[in-house]
Order: sequence, then structure tokens, then C-alpha cells
Amino acid sequence: MQKLPKTEFELVVIGSGFGATMTALTIAQRIGDQRPDILMLERGTWWTTPVPTVQDKTIATAKFLKERGQPVQYWSSVEHFKGFIDLVLRCFRRPKNEDGLYELTQLGKRTWFGLKQEENDGVTVLRACGVGGGSLVYSNITIRPPDFVLADERWPLTWTAEERNSYYDLARHAIGYGVVSAWIEHDKGNIPFQDPTGQNQLPAGSVNEGLSNIVTRSARLNPHWTVVTDPHGRELKRITIDPDPKLPSENQNRLWIDRARVFQTAMSELTNDFGTVDSSINDLTPEGLKEDPQRPQNYPGKPLNYCERQGRCNVGCLPGARQPLNKQLMAAIFGKIDGTPPLFNDKDDNEYKRFHLHPLTEVDIIHALPNNGGYEIEYWQRDENKPSRKTSQKVRAKRVIIAAGCLGTNEILLRSKARGGLPHLSRKVGSGFSTNGDYIAFLEGLDKPVSLTRGPVTTSFGHFNTPEAEPGKPVDTKKFHMIEDQGIPRAAASTIGFGIPVIRMLTAQLHHSPRLFALLLIARWLWHRLGFYVLAFFKDASERQQIFESEDEFTNNMMCIVAQGRESSVGQFRLGASPTESPLRVKRTDNLSFTQDPIFAEVRSSLARLAAKLGSTKNFINPFIGGPAKVLKAESIATSHPLGGCSMAQSVVEGVVDEYGRVFYDTDTNTPAYYQGLYVADSSILPTALGVNPSLTISALSLRIADHLVKDIQGQVSA
Ligand SMILES: Cc1cc2nc3c(=O)[nH]c(=O)nc-3n(C[C@H](O)[C@H](O)[C@H](O)COP(=O)(O)OP(=O)(O)OC[C@H]3O[C@@H](n4cnc5c(N)ncnc54)[C@H](O)[C@@H]3O)c2cc1C
Ligand code: SF4
Repeated sequence: MQKLPKTEFELVVIGSGFGATMTALTIAQRIGDQRPDILMLERGTWWTTPVPTVQDKTIATAKFLKERGQPVQYWSSVEHFKGFIDLVLRCFRRPKNEDGLYELTQLGKRTWFGLKQEENDGVTVLRACGVGGGSLVYSNITIRPPDFVLADERWPLTWTAEERNSYYDLARHAIGYGVVSAWIEHDKGNIPFQDPTGQNQLPAGSVNEGLSNIVTRSARLNPHWTVVTDPHGRELKRITIDPDPKLPSENQNRLWIDRARVFQTAMSELTNDFGTVDSSINDLTPEGLKEDPQRPQNYPGKPLNYCERQGRCNVGCLPGARQPLNKQLMAAIFGKIDGTPPLFNDKDDNEYKRFHLHPLTEVDIIHALPNNGGYEIEYWQRDENKPSRKTSQKVRAKRVIIAAGCLGTNEILLRSKARGGLPHLSRKVGSGFSTNGDYIAFLEGLDKPVSLTRGPVTTSFGHFNTPEAEPGKPVDTKKFHMIEDQGIPRAAASTIGFGIPVIRMLTAQLHHSPRLFALLLIARWLWHRLGFYVLAFFKDASERQQIFESEDEFTNNMMCIVAQGRESSVGQFRLGASPTESPLRVKRTDNLSFTQDPIFAEVRSSLARLAAKLGSTKNFINPFIGGPAKVLKAESIATSHPLGGCSMAQSVVEGVVDEYGRVFYDTDTNTPAYYQGLYVADSSILPTALGVNPSLTISALSLRIADHLVKDIQGQVSA
């Protein structure tokens, strides 16, 4: 691991996820001529594929990064139960494995070496730890919330509808092609991008190929979808229901991935507001369609990685088709394996290594230096070979952008306030947390097969309680929620295929002695599994044994969904008080438990209707709510979209930052003041739930914050 080249920087960015990448690359691109020193601090490592891809036939990426002093790990690649074990043991972050990729935190208090849960706060958070942040494991869904969500009075934004649309367009480009490309094309007035040459050129400075809409079983198949216009005037693609049987076979929807076909068909009977999600995945242009940089593509002469429908988006894309932000950061800081020089670190000028990223670096607290002299950041530097070994270090910066994600940023700010580093932060630090109304649920017994393990992990959505959902009818937008299909990686298929029916059985039997029943069931399962192995020797010649079913078969009449909705956003964080507590504790200010939020009744009602349309006689079950979770007093909302806690607001009385991410300084008077040069740009600033996947909104807001910060640096705005 390379040492920091110096201890003082112009700008330090904490984190490397959406907020961090959008802001750091914007500042580097827009004031590159002033050559600011930028340092990104990230607590995790780089992650990449261990197999050859179209663009990296010799698996050179890991070596390329290691040669530049960067710690790298490989995605888990095994596609069956062994892979599940690899994921749990190697890829989850825990003591002695602090460089793990996933961090699963059940907020509360545990004793007996973490085995006994003493206090349960009712929230479990899954997040990523690595260069690229949540983009490393996210489901690629790049979607905008309905405008009425942002019109909530808790949103302090002064942007006009036109400005808002332009930042969302910029964010789509920044995720789909690259942040640097977004600003280059923005300055030419070319967002949304149009190829001026007519030669199917990618936009200038692009790292990826743009967002795609993947619903077919293989790349290149023409989906033959129906196109409608969404409320923002963009194309929305959806399944052609009941295609005219007289049309040629290629006009049918039979080439669709089963999950997408079954989900959209069922959804079309429940809401008029449904369709295909925009995915941050490179794909090939479907055959017969014009090659067009606005569409999925792959250019002659410049083959790029493309989606092979392997369904592994949440555990690492082996063909390297996804568009995680680490690709952009590598291109910016180190260049590409094909010899393309770094965007910001000019190879010929050793003095000009101005853009640095330091992995395995976990920020502890921030101290404001006297007389507006900038900030000192205390961090833990982990040892690459033994990540549990860490040393305390410090770095100084004139400006700091905190973008450590919802939990990370809340922790840093609460610690900094409690330990006197930033004593004048708003009293609102930690308030306004939201689970984003996240809900995961499974349904077995569909009357048609569905492939849960093939295709991008999410293909489609259905919106409820929007004006478009049931045109002409009165609508209560406070009840807005969204349901999406969710695939599962094959490595987890046998666990989920067995586990969900078991949870359902337990739920049905729990009124009898529940713990005894659970133990008996586990004993029965173990005996059953061992028995199958023994019996296979005698029976397999005449009859196929269950243990020889493939991972796809375990789940092939099951549907998994994720839902989100307008949750109340009234969670209040505090720091855990002892090592047996999670670093952050949370409770709602209205004394309800998180599972009792009214939005979940709405979600469950829509799911009951969806279950019927999917031809199942069962109900969707959420393994984290009811049944065994209830008996074990471990019920929680499992969220991968934690939001808020350092909310944007108009004043220090109401929130932690203003709409440009500037951190308020509490003067105890009515005079507005800021911590000069201190910013927050990530999911923690969202003042309410979005009810949709948040990365596009986080990106749009962060680009706006960075744009304003650039003007600030250039002296065009007053503080
Ligand atoms: C499995 C999964 C699937 C998801 N799918 C989608 C989806 O399809 N679409 C969507 O919009 N959203 C999705 N999300 C949510 C999305 O990933 C997050 O909302 C988004 O990443 C948040 O961006 P951020 O900038 O706030 O923080 P992050 O992207 O989480 O980045 C924060 C970074 O800071 C680092 N960090 C934290 N603490 C410290 C510290 N103390 N010091 C240094 N570094 C630190 C972290 O390691 C991380 O890299 C998904 C999330 C998960 C877990
Ligand atoms: S479906 Fe597979 S190939 Fe396609 S993006 Fe996801 S992980 Fe990559």
C-alpha cells in the first residue's frame, strides 16, 4: 500500500460511492486547470472479476491496480452453495475481515459474543465497503422519483422544474457514460446526449456505454416492446401484452426473460404505471435496431463488455458489464489497462499526481482548525495483509466533502460533535432517518415457471398511488410505493429455495411450542439432507434425487420482489454507548416500531393483489418480519437504501446542511452560518424517503452540490 504523498490537501473526499465520485470527479474536471490536490479516503478495497472479459482477456485489471499500490480482491465466482459459503466467509465485513465487501448491521445491542440479541432497534442495513461504494453491489436501477416526492415541504430545494430535469439528465449521463463525459457534453449543451456526427460515436470522455433496458434472455434479441411516454417526456418501455397472434413470431414477447415477462404481465393488471427500469449495464444493440448511443449498444471496432444475463449483479459481474463507479475512478486516477493514460494524473509530469485515492482508510473524526484554517481528519489506516491491524493517522485539508453513505456520515458527524471536533453542528444531526420503505418478500407456488437466477437482478417496476397508476381516479400520493422484481444469485438459490418454505412452515406452526418446533425442523432438515446423500447410492439409477436439482430449479416457481415507499422518515440516530452495541442506534420519534410504519400496510395490500395475479394461493412473506423473526424478537426492516440523518434544510434549526451540502454552524442566534469548506454529499442529506431506488437522486444532488462548490472555489458565490 502506498503512503500518502503528503499530509495536507486542497480537498479531501470521504468515501468513494455515488456522492463521493460525483463530487470528486466534477471538481477535478471543472477546475483541473487550477490543479487542486484531491484525496479520496475509502475504508474498503478494490474489487474486480477473476475471469477474462471482452475488454480484459488476460485478467490484467487486478495486476494493473496492484502495481499501483492498490489492494484488490476478486468477486466470489462459484455459482452454487459453495459460493454462498465464500460470500458469507470472505465477502462479509466483520471483525478479522474488515476488508469485506458487504456490511450487514442489525442496529441494537448484542451480548454473548454477538450471539444474544438484547435490544433490537428494528432496522437491519446492508451496505457496501469498497472502492465504488454501493455501486459495487447495487442492482443497477437508475430511476427517478415522481415529482410530488420532492415537493414535500421537508425538501428545501429552490431548483426550478427545468433545473431539476437538467440535473437528473446530467446524473443519468454521469452514471451511464461517466461524470467527466457528463460535464464535457454539458458544456457543449449536449445533454441528453445526441451524437452530432451521426456515426454512432460515444460521447467524449465516456467510460461506459450508457444506460440500457434489459429484458431479453440474451443480448442482441429484439424485445419488441411497447413504448409509451413517461411524465418527464422520456421513453418508457414495457411488455406488449397479448401480442397479435397473426404477427410474425418475432413480434411476440416470448424472447423475454421469464421473470420480466411474468412480472410485467401481472403488474399490467394492477397499475397503469409500470415498465422496464433503466439499468446501468452495458449491453449489445438488439438486432434490427439502429445503433444509437441513446440505446444499448456495442460499437464495431471497439468491443466492450456486455451483459450475459448471469444474474449476479449483487455479487459482482463476472463479464464486467455493469457500470460500477470504480471503473470511472480507475480511468481517472490510473488510466486503463489498454494504455489509455489517466484523465487527471498526467503520466509525463510526476509533480502532477494530484488526484489520489487511498483505500483501507477509515475516517474516525473531523476537527475544525481554528480561524477557518480548514480541517484535520483522523483516520484508521488498515494493514492490507491483516486488516484488523490498524494505525491512527491524520491528514489536513482546506475543504472536506463527507460522502461516507448514510450510516458512515452520521457516525462521523455524531462522533465529531460528541468528541469536540465539530462542536457547533446542528442539533438535528442524526434525525430524519428513513428506511425508504424498503420491503423484501418472496412468494412460492406460482402457476408458471420463473427464472429467478437469470438476467439482470432487476428488470421491471410497478408504481402505485401515482396519478398515472389509475388515471382519472383520486390518488393519495402519500401512499406512493413501488414494487420491483428481484433476482437472486445462483450461489444463494438453494439456501433461499429451501429457507423460504421453512420460514413459511414455521410461521404456520408457531402458535405451538415455537422454539421446540424450530429445533425439530432443523434436525429433520439435517437428517433429510444426509438421508438423501445415502439414498442416492441406491435410488438414483431409477429416480432423480432432489439433491441433484440445479440451482435454477430450486427457485423456478418463486417470485422475489423488493418494494419501497414513502415511509415517515422520523428515525433518530445516536451513537452506540458500548462495544456490545452497534456503532449507531436508532429509534423513531413517534414511538412506533419501524415495522409499524403505515406504508407497509399499503405495500402488503399491493403484494396480496400481485400474488393473486401471479397465480399463487399463498401470500408474499418477508423473512425479516413475522414468523421466526417475531418469535426471536428480531423483527426488522431490512434496508439497502438507508437515507437521511444529516438532512438538507433551510436553517440550522431544521437540518444539518443546506441545499448545496454546506454544513451549518450553530451560532445559537438567528444569523445563518456555515463551517467554511465543509460539505456533505450523499444519501444522508435526503430529508425524506423517496419511495424509489435512490442512486440517481443522490447523484443529481451531488452533481449540483459539486457544481456550486466549483463556483465557490472560483469565487462566483458568496457563502
Ligand atoms: C445490495 C444493494 C442493492 C442496491 N441496489 C440499488 C439500485 O439498484 N439502485 C439504487 O439506486 N440504489 C441501490 N442500492 C442503494 C445504493 O447503493 C445506495 O443508495 C448508494 O450507494 C448510496 O450512495 P452514497 O454516496 O450515499 O454512499 P455509498 O455508495 O454507500 O458510499 C459510501 C462509501 O463510503 C465508505 N465509507 C463509509 N464509512 C467510511 C469511513 N468512516 N471512512 C472512509 N470511508 C467510509 C464506504 O465503504 C462506501 O464505499 C443498493 C444497495 C445495496 C446494498
Ligand atoms: S446479469 Fe450478469 S452479466 Fe448481466 S450485468 Fe448482471 S451480473 Fe453482469
